Amino acid sequence: MSRVSRPTRMNCPGLSRATSLSTWPLRLMTGAETPRTRRHQGKTVSVSWASSEGVGRSMRSNRGRDTLPELAVRRLLHQMGYRYRVDYAPVGGRRRADIVFTRQRVAIFVDGCFWHSCPIHGTRPRQNSTYWEPKLRRNVERDRETDETLERAGWTVLRFWEHEPPGIVVESIVETLQISKLPPGSP
Ligand SMILES: [Zn+2]
Repeated sequence: MSRVSRPTRMNCPGLSRATSLSTWPLRLMTGAETPRTRRHQGKTVSVSWASSEGVGRSMRSNRGRDTLPELAVRRLLHQMGYRYRVDYAPVGGRRRADIVFTRQRVAIFVDGCFWHSCPIHGTRPRQNSTYWEPKLRRNVERDRETDETLERAGWTVLRFWEHEPPGIVVESIVETLQISKLPPGSP
C-alpha cells in the first residue's frame, strides 16, 4: 500500500503561515495553565532548562500522548462517527501510532513540531546541543523506520504536524479512510 503524503501548505492556498500561527496552535501553547513540567519515565521533570522561551513553549506542548492538537483531531473524528484506537501499536512492539483504524489499516501520527523537527518550528536548542542534536535526529530516524515497518506490513501511514489545523488534518484522514474502505463482506 502506498504512503499517502502529508498534505502540504501548498494544497490550501487560504492558509498562510501567519494565519495558522495566529490561530490555534500558538493560542493553545501560550496558555498560562500549561504546566512547566512534563512526564518523563514516570516522573514529572522540569523543563525550565529550555534554552529559549520558544523552545520551552514547544516542549510544553509536546508531552507525548494526548497533545491538544491530537485531542482536537480525535474529537472531530469522533463527532463524525469514526471510531478508532488511541496510542496503539498497529503491528505490536513499541511503535505506537496516535490514532489507529485497525480494519482499514490506517495509522495516524500527529507529530510534535519540536520533537519531530518540523521544517517550520523545529528548533535545535543551542544550549546542550551535544545532547539535543543526536536525540532529535534519532527521533526523525525512528519515525522513518516506523513508517517503513508499518508500510511493509500493509498499513497506510499518515503523518501530520501538530501545527496543522485539525479540520484540514481530519479531511485528509477521512479521504484516506474512504480510499481504504474494504469491499462489503470483508472480515
Ligand atoms: Zn510546526
